Amino acid sequence: MARVYNFSAGPSTLPEKVLQTAAAEMMDYHGSGQSVMEMSHRSKWFDDIIKEAEALMRELYQVPDNYKVLFLQGGASAQFSAIPLNFMNGSGKADYIITGQWAKKAFQEAQKYGDVKAVASSADKTFSYIPKTKAEDFRDDVDYVYICMNNTIYGTVYKELPPVGDKVLIADVSSCALSEPLDISKFGVVYFGAQKNVAPAGLVVAIIREDLLGNARDITPVMMNYKVQADADSLYNTPPCWTIYICKLVLDWIKEEFGSLEAMKAHNEKKAAVLYNFLDNSKLFKGTVVPEDRSLMNVPFVTGDEELDAKFVKEATAAGFVNIKGHRTVGGMRASIYNAMPIEGVEKLVEFMAKFEAENA
Ligand SMILES: *Cc1c(COP(=O)(O)O)cnc(C)c1O
Repeated sequence: MARVYNFSAGPSTLPEKVLQTAAAEMMDYHGSGQSVMEMSHRSKWFDDIIKEAEALMRELYQVPDNYKVLFLQGGASAQFSAIPLNFMNGSGKADYIITGQWAKKAFQEAQKYGDVKAVASSADKTFSYIPKTKAEDFRDDVDYVYICMNNTIYGTVYKELPPVGDKVLIADVSSCALSEPLDISKFGVVYFGAQKNVAPAGLVVAIIREDLLGNARDITPVMMNYKVQADADSLYNTPPCWTIYICKLVLDWIKEEFGSLEAMKAHNEKKAAVLYNFLDNSKLFKGTVVPEDRSLMNVPFVTGDEELDAKFVKEATAAGFVNIKGHRTVGGMRASIYNAMPIEGVEKLVEFMAKFEAENA
């Protein structure tokens, strides 16, 4: 059977090269006579895999030396709790910007642990823009400011970071991880669930400034204590070995195919422009996000007619463009065009949309 173009927001499409390598190495990984799923996480083979994954992550993101790179579990959602438990440890205050469902869930979870304030929100317009903030919007004594960098459901992204001064900035970058360069030194913590852009589900990568570690609350579950994980080099318990291995293959792919995150970004910009240019000129389809805050990764769009949206989703699916239905809170469609979506996938989708437009206008 031919492979489909998979526009899923996550778990999402992976590079074919990575799938082929994983398949070729399935029965006998590098002469070990085992697959990576079966081997000890204390084996030399796996030790090499996790160390190479970390080295590639550091190289591509140019992670400064005073940051730890951790491979964790529990999904991005577990970090919603781990972040206040580890970092809301001075004044017990934190400021959150509410740009969508994931930021809101993180905010609600943090409220269990301290004085948490929503300093700005774009809920008034279904999160179709990034709210502007000023330095004075943030409280002086907060332990951190929290943002969700790329809003998977709504298709917005921060092009400029909020003016937090020297306050600790923490960002969920799950759905834009490794899609473009990021100046890690501007953040206290960035973290991402892997299933959007980096690997299958089951892995979270957290990049944490070292001086922030070591002040977790006493009640923090040991598995959520970043210091414990950092001291154990992410091997406090059995890590998600297979997912870390695929993550390493994806990092290899980015390096070999593109060379750097600057080049990855240029490719993603070119790819997203194909879809946005079409949307901006279409008489039937339109994007739901204000142009200045549009994501390169998640592109929601609508026809304005729910029945026509449903017809489009049905016909697109039959034509091999799958998982293109929008999130229930936005309606319409959403094309997630992560790193691994080839440009041909977007070009063919746009051709299909043009044909649909001609038939239904
Ligand atoms: C998908 C997603 C999450 C939730 O991830 P889980 O791994 O399912 O917990 C959180 N934040 C963002 C930005 C996401 O895209």
